Amino acid sequence: HLDRIAAIDSTVHAFLHVDTEGALAAARAVDEDVAAGRPVASPLAGVPLALKDVFATKDIPTTCGSRILENWVPPYDATVTRRLREAGVVVLGKTNMDEFAMGSSTENSAFGVTRNPWDLDRVPGGSGGGSSASLAAFEAPLAIGTDTGGSIRQPASVTGTVGVKPTYGGVSRYGLVAFSSSLDQGGPCARTVLDAALLHEVIAGHDPFDSTSIDAPVPPVVAAAREGAAGDLRGVRVGVVREFTGEWYQSGVLGAFERSVEVLRELGAEVVEVSCPNFDYALPAYYLIAPSEASSNLARFDAMRYGLRVGDERGNSAEQVMALTREAGFGEEVKRRIMVGTYALSSGYYDAYYGQAQKVRTLISRDFERAFGEVDVLVSPTTPTTAFRIGERVDDPVAMYRADLCTIPANMSGTPAMSVPAGLSEEDGLPVGLQIMAPALQEQRMYKVAAAYE
Ligand code: GLN
Repeated sequence: HLDRIAAIDSTVHAFLHVDTEGALAAARAVDEDVAAGRPVASPLAGVPLALKDVFATKDIPTTCGSRILENWVPPYDATVTRRLREAGVVVLGKTNMDEFAMGSSTENSAFGVTRNPWDLDRVPGGSGGGSSASLAAFEAPLAIGTDTGGSIRQPASVTGTVGVKPTYGGVSRYGLVAFSSSLDQGGPCARTVLDAALLHEVIAGHDPFDSTSIDAPVPPVVAAAREGAAGDLRGVRVGVVREFTGEWYQSGVLGAFERSVEVLRELGAEVVEVSCPNFDYALPAYYLIAPSEASSNLARFDAMRYGLRVGDERGNSAEQVMALTREAGFGEEVKRRIMVGTYALSSGYYDAYYGQAQKVRTLISRDFERAFGEVDVLVSPTTPTTAFRIGERVDDPVAMYRADLCTIPANMSGTPAMSVPAGLSEEDGLPVGLQIMAPALQEQRMYKVAAAYE
């Protein structure tokens, strides 16, 4: 995999940092265990992985795709990083991402774009485009992403790979650079459902360092993926979300989705249509909640504690240094979010914006509850379109935001959801994703359906 990265990553640019020495040392340690007849740490011991650059890695730069964290080297490992290392997983390096995970194309990275291996003129999705591109380009068999509004599932969809957003609180956020804390969730990315399940069980589980971490057993996703592989979905009720269609959806995507639903029927599933009327408001509500939380979280980048510091040699006040640093260190989209969030949280506006969005969030959760009273899983396209061209949406933030029309509801409710490859669009020959959603802590349901479908 290191050879593959050396050969093609100057073209794909999935990685921001390759840790050749660390990866070889980790691999050698597994080899030594095997040679000495010692049991290996996990079924994934020795398997290489690409880690999104939003997770803290001790002694390895962690930039979050931002100039403000350029050259920042954390003094500790995130819980996800630690669990990977303890499982013997070989971390190859850190992957490119939209700055602070804000974006749907990886074009907002301060360190250049990542290209979609299916068509180098197109985006790999975002914010976790580097992780998904590394899988699609065969630079790594496993990767880790984070999903605040779709950043695992949408890149998986447009690169023809598998991406899973676990139940909120299922995977620790300790050491994950915070964007929108009530929505952020780390999760597994892979090329097959079983690989994602094996990785899921390595990274999930309670963590006393994260107060929102769920203290409950990890859902049995590996067993579910193996069970699903038999291809029998008799007795499973699948709901097709009626709201996920309309003017923003490409006919090639809707066609692939219809064929997927047919496959689920052929596997024995009972398919019904389900209405979740408040999903229509998920996108606007998300774009109040996520920027509000971001404006608060990003206050920590004050030129005093981490990374970049601009202007302190000129006798400026601390406040001036903070302003100059934030002006130079944050990109356009991050500044846009900080401004929107600060405005929405301003005194006098709270009830009209943030408070209202929180109410919508509750209505979305109720839609899910009602739907899961009728069906075991919900399905939809993962994204309204296939991979778009590099540059096509950079000047139109709202068009960029629409990439997450189908993924955001699951973040709002905290429920798990995943994307699995659903063939190619008949319009442009590019990958389409099937999204499968399940109730909280019922990940095994979606893994079973995904494995059967795959
Ligand atoms: N594209 C969405 C945003 O820009 C989601 C990002 C994410 O899930 N990290 O906020």
